[in-house]
Amino acid sequence: MKNEAKSIDLSSRKLIAVRDVQDAARAGATHIVAAANCVVTPSARDLMQQNGIELAACKCTAAAAAQPSAAAPAQAPDRRLYNSPEAEAIKKEICSVGRKLWMRQFVDGNGGNISFRIGPNEVLCTPTLMSKYDLTPEDISLVDLEGNQIAGSRPRTSELLMHLEIYKAVPEAKAVVHCHPPHATAYAITGRVPPNLVIPEFEVFVGKVAISPYETPGTKTFAETVIPYVKQHNTVLLSNHGIVCWADTVTHAEWYAEVLDTYCWTLMNAAQLGAPLSFISEQKGADLLNLKKKLGLPDARLDPARMKECQLSDLEMPSAIAVEPAPCEGGSGVTSSADVDSLVRSVTDAVMEAIGSK
Ligand SMILES: [Zn+2]
Repeated sequence: MKNEAKSIDLSSRKLIAVRDVQDAARAGATHIVAAANCVVTPSARDLMQQNGIELAACKCTAAAAAQPSAAAPAQAPDRRLYNSPEAEAIKKEICSVGRKLWMRQFVDGNGGNISFRIGPNEVLCTPTLMSKYDLTPEDISLVDLEGNQIAGSRPRTSELLMHLEIYKAVPEAKAVVHCHPPHATAYAITGRVPPNLVIPEFEVFVGKVAISPYETPGTKTFAETVIPYVKQHNTVLLSNHGIVCWADTVTHAEWYAEVLDTYCWTLMNAAQLGAPLSFISEQKGADLLNLKKKLGLPDARLDPARMKECQLSDLEMPSAIAVEPAPCEGGSGVTSSADVDSLVRSVTDAVMEAIGSK
């Protein structure tokens, strides 16, 4: 037998936060009736989902019909979300992160893009063709999870599709930053990843880095290349392109870009000293991994099913600053030695055929 519907009327409220949802859950509510211009914070929405509580919003005809006490529909609810205090604060954070990326030389020209999932189906993102240094809050666009623009005067970035794939694949991802930091991108053009167990901060905040295969930027195919990696990696190298990071906030996603690029740069500097790298022991590395688990950060090495193939360190090349991606990091995209063999064979065949036909 189904639970009886029970509504809590919060239609007089301008904002619904976690505490309101906790109260509603304690009261056994199945619906929260909210005014169309009411802002529901992302964490409150998450909590509603966990407790099976639905929003009886005025913009939804069905919900309004089921909940006659809901207030009358107001115009352009998405526009209200775009102008809400929460959205204004996030737009400012996106602009400040954009300037940080530019000042660290992580974005060139109009390169790089930043987004934040502000609602279950709504994402704030940077516009196309703008330097990340010059952004102002009015430049930020609001789009839905299919990439349709809802609000904002500037057209959204074409690379938004990759951000949307990450939001769809990883419920914990609230913010995505894509950029072209020179040291990390140097790895992305070699098909190699940095080794692990060299610097603690990198282990905790980033850890194993995956590398996704090359595709033309801005396309749906490019956007989909990251899907096999993003559940277990908050930071992915994009072959011959740059990097992408996701986190709970825009600021944290930018931190991961900084941590990765500094790590890659430090390894390159160490290589010039001509002395072998010294590594953190596996035992001390396990302590770092435990710390990471407590912080709720993803890492392929935390997956027990993959623990065997994902060693903490990269033992096969103990002092290299650039190593082959581990099998656990590979979806279909990373070129395997079998792929290379077959590629070499087909090129050789084509050359022999061309020579033979002359
Ligand atoms: Zn790019």
